[in-house]
Formats: sequence, C-alpha cells, structure tokens
Amino acid sequence: MLTVIKNADVYTPESIGIKDILIADKRIAAIEDQIDLPEETPGLKVIDAEHKIAVPGFIDSHVHIMGGGGEGSYKTRTPELQLTDATLGGVTTLVGVIGTDGTTRTMPSLIAKARALEEEGITCYVHTGSYQVPVKTLTGKIEDDLILIDRVIGAGEIAIADHRSSQPTVEEMAKIASAARIGGMLSGKAGIINVHVGDSYDHLKIIEQVVETTDIPIRQFYPTHINRNPHLFEAGIAYAKRGGYVDFTTSSIPKFLEEGEVKCSTALKRMLEAGVQASQITFTSDGQASLPDFDQDGELIGLQIGKVTSLYKEVRDAVLEEKVPLSTAIRMVTQNPAKILKLTQKGELVSGKDADVVLLSHDDYSIDSVFALGKLMVHKGEAVVKGTFE
Ligand code: ZN
Repeated sequence: MLTVIKNADVYTPESIGIKDILIADKRIAAIEDQIDLPEETPGLKVIDAEHKIAVPGFIDSHVHIMGGGGEGSYKTRTPELQLTDATLGGVTTLVGVIGTDGTTRTMPSLIAKARALEEEGITCYVHTGSYQVPVKTLTGKIEDDLILIDRVIGAGEIAIADHRSSQPTVEEMAKIASAARIGGMLSGKAGIINVHVGDSYDHLKIIEQVVETTDIPIRQFYPTHINRNPHLFEAGIAYAKRGGYVDFTTSSIPKFLEEGEVKCSTALKRMLEAGVQASQITFTSDGQASLPDFDQDGELIGLQIGKVTSLYKEVRDAVLEEKVPLSTAIRMVTQNPAKILKLTQKGELVSGKDADVVLLSHDDYSIDSVFALGKLMVHKGEAVVKGTFE
C-alpha cells in the first residue's frame, strides 16, 4: 500500500517547509519537495494536504488503558479506553499504566489490552507495576518483565509523596531503579521509572535522595503530575534544573485549576521561561484516570474521567494562547517522549520511521487527519476506523 501526502507544511518537529510524504505500508519511505508516482501505480492513494500542517503522530505515555480509579469504591472504577478515544486526539502511540488499584487491575489484563489496541491499529506499550511497592510485576521481577515481555518498556507508575502510595523508602526506590535500569540495558529499552508524584510536600525528595546516595542517573526517573499544584510545580523547576525529566498532566477539571493546578500549556511556558531545556519536558493525558471532585467536607460529589484528547488540546493552547512555537510545543508529545522512552521508530517525520502522521488545519490547528502505521484512522476530523466495540 502506497500513500502520498501532497503539499503538507511539514514539522519533523522542526519546520522543513512544504513537502510531499511517501508512505509505503507502515513506514515513511521518503519526504521530498515533490513526489509524483504514476497514477496507475497499484494501491496508490493520494491525499491533498494543501493548507495542512503535517506533524508526527502523538505519543501519550501515561494512560490507564484498561481503566483506573476505584478510589470511591468499586462503582468508581473507570472504563477501558476505546480506540477512537486516542485516534481522534491524534494519539498513535500509548503507554499503558495501572494506577492506584494493583489488586483488581493486573499486568496480564494490561498487556492484553495493549495487544488489543495494537490489533486495532495503533502502537501500545506498558509499564510494569502499579502505585505499589514492592512492585507487582508479571514474572515476579522488574528486570525479567523488561527483558522477556516485548510490550514492557519501564516500571510504574510508582506513587510517591501521596497518601495513596506505599510510602516507599529511599532504599526501596533505589532497588526499583536499579532493577529497571538493568532490565532496560539488557533489553535495549528505556527501563524508565514512571513516578506518580502526589500532593504531599515531600515532592520529588525521594528521587533526589536516590540520585544523591547512588550512582543511578536522575534521568532514569520520569516523574509525572508535576503541574498538579503550585508548590510541586516550583519543586519541579528545581528538579529539572538538576537535569531531570518533568511530565505534565493534561487532563483536568475547572475545580482543579481553581485550586491551583498549573494549566499544562501555561506550565510549559513557565518552565521554558525559567530556563529549563524543552527536551526535558513532556505532556501526558492520564487518560481514563478518575478525576474525583470532593466537597469541603471531603465527600465525593462528582467523578469525571481523564481524556486522551486533552493531550493535544494543551499543545494547541500552548501555541495559540501562550505563543510557544509549534515546533517546540509539538515536541512535548512527539520527539521528547520518543527519546525518553527509547521508541526509536516514533516521534519524528523522517524517512524510515513509522508512518504515524497527524495533519492539522492551517487555520486553527485542529486535527484533520490521523495516520497510524500508514493507515488512515481519522479523516476530516471523523474516525474512519473504529474499535471493535465502538
Ligand atoms: Zn498518577
């Protein structure tokens, strides 16, 4: 199957001007000023992308793909992600995580859901474990999961600085990090430790203590939710200045923002202004997580679900409202997570990489079309491929 995308304004994420993109089966075969194949070429499809911007398919590396939540009892367990929950938001690569409930949500189910999403046409990896320490893995060991299970690329999300965490010690975190690091080295994967950081004033302290007392590099850790409140955000700036990665969560509700959550697009702008390198920052959606709303007495009064579509919405807001250049903003969900997670086929529009491509309208940056592994999933903003039960 051959597809030529004609006359797109291409961001690799670097802007390279108006180009044609040739897709052969699942890969980008060429990006040139002009690619014209004979009309009679078998299986040739030509897409007119004049007045469209082409960017790499988005990577959302923190999604509760099989559902999460459950913190307001069983009925608050959130539903599974459906294919178009991702593709309509331009997301073509996911990393699935478990979350708070490591009892009824298990690694076999997580891997099965990742494989289901792959069968439906997108790319999906997982991290091994949940909030809890000791880490509940598939095989019994973090390093064995990384080395033996192709879908596993890291460990997490391990919770710290949170009343829901296992209150891990520095020594426990160091052991998790070294297991993930070794597993990553031996399997050629990232072996990253995705860390859920909660609202407690301990912030990122435990990671910093591991880095100070061992020779595990700070970039073995990938802490998320750094924009969840103003004091963690400030701690995140200091942490990034020591060289660490910081990930912001895009799913939110108005109440969280009123209470001081730093809107993701604003958080990006402020981190850049503080002098943090753009390559250290990423966005993830926390999709399918529960977003519980409590009243003043701490009673649960409402529950919403995190949306993968919030991922690109915040990129767009960063461009339109915060005036962050598109080539910088788009990196948060393409090249940066690909590099951090060692997804070598992902995150860039370059010949030889996977043909995950998003076409944006030039007028308002809205998502027009989405290709995942060379297949058109969304066209003119509508899903043309749906999940099995959609
Ligand atoms: Zn989390």
